[in-house]
Amino acid sequence: MSELRIIFQGDRLWLPLGAVPLEVEAELSLRLAEGHLALKVAGDHPVPEGVEALGLRDAFPHLNPADWARAGRAYQWLEWAAGHRFCGSCATALEPCAGPEAGHGRRCPACGRTVFPSNATAIIVLIQRGAGVNRELALARSPHFKPGVYSAIAGFTEPGESLEHAVHREVAEELGIRVHNLRYFGSQPWPFPNGLMVAFLADHLAGELQPDPTELEDARWFRLDELPQLPSSLSIARWMLDAALDESG
Ligand SMILES: [Zn+2]
Repeated sequence: MSELRIIFQGDRLWLPLGAVPLEVEAELSLRLAEGHLALKVAGDHPVPEGVEALGLRDAFPHLNPADWARAGRAYQWLEWAAGHRFCGSCATALEPCAGPEAGHGRRCPACGRTVFPSNATAIIVLIQRGAGVNRELALARSPHFKPGVYSAIAGFTEPGESLEHAVHREVAEELGIRVHNLRYFGSQPWPFPNGLMVAFLADHLAGELQPDPTELEDARWFRLDELPQLPSSLSIARWMLDAALDESG
């Protein structure tokens, strides 16, 4: 594949991907592992003619899944690099790590502290109860969702926590119920701004839904033939819901 120049201005991606004149002035540029070039241009840089600047979510319908994933990776690397210019211990300007194993890490020349890009890991869990026509899914609404949309429960892991522990804690905190039979579903890089979503299926064990009003507007059990509006096919939440629907025929 030829080199792509993936250009961001703040959190906006320039489209069409790779079709930007070479004279663009970048304030940050990174060569990604797969060979593409990620560029960040200044906020006041003029948007070239024929280019549209869109947030990653809005860019999703305009890109094939592989290119959208590439753009998401580029964004995460650029964001990390832009936010790690100085040492967190002594405030000296960081330098690129040297040596063949260096990757994209940075090192403090004064105190030796090294930093590497990391993900904020989040869990998402689709909870079910019952079987056959009585099978139901626990879905919730965050005030940040588009009107009418319900989705699976998600939350960030905390330091020192396993993925499984995070699932049980989030479900207890946000829904007031207990679950069991956790099954791994899959994972998805989530570039808003640097997440990794790890998805599980689980069965209801005990308790009635009591949504946490500080996090959720509503949470309910939905039968599969009476599902509300679902999140877009951008997210692993939707992939889990589609899989549940496929399974039920
Ligand atoms: Zn330092």
